Formats: sequence, structure tokens, C-alpha cells
Amino acid sequence: MKRDVPLCVFCRIHPIDPAWRPFCSDRCKLQDLARWVDGAYAVPDEGVADAEERDE
Ligand SMILES: [Zn+2]
Repeated sequence: MKRDVPLCVFCRIHPIDPAWRPFCSDRCKLQDLARWVDGAYAVPDEGVADAEERDE
């Protein structure tokens, strides 16, 4: 029986779980989110990297 099940947008291995769509699990959702956030912080910008050690 062939079903047209969409795959998780992160791992593209497991079918999407309606509870976590468009991901297959909370794990893939968190990993995708983490990657997105990491990319946002990875924007090249001189001087920003040193500033985060202040106020700690
Ligand atoms: Zn997945």
C-alpha cells in the first residue's frame, strides 16, 4: 500500500507527526530551531563576539 506521506522537513527520513509538523518529532523541531537561531547569531559582524563576555 502506497501512501503519500510527507516527510519531516529536517531529517527527511521520518513521516511528519501531526503533533510536530512539519517535523517528525520534537527532537527534529528543536534541532531545526537551534540551527536557525545559530545561523542568526552567526551573521558576520565585527566586534559582537567580544561583547558577550561583559556583564557576566
Ligand atoms: Zn525528523
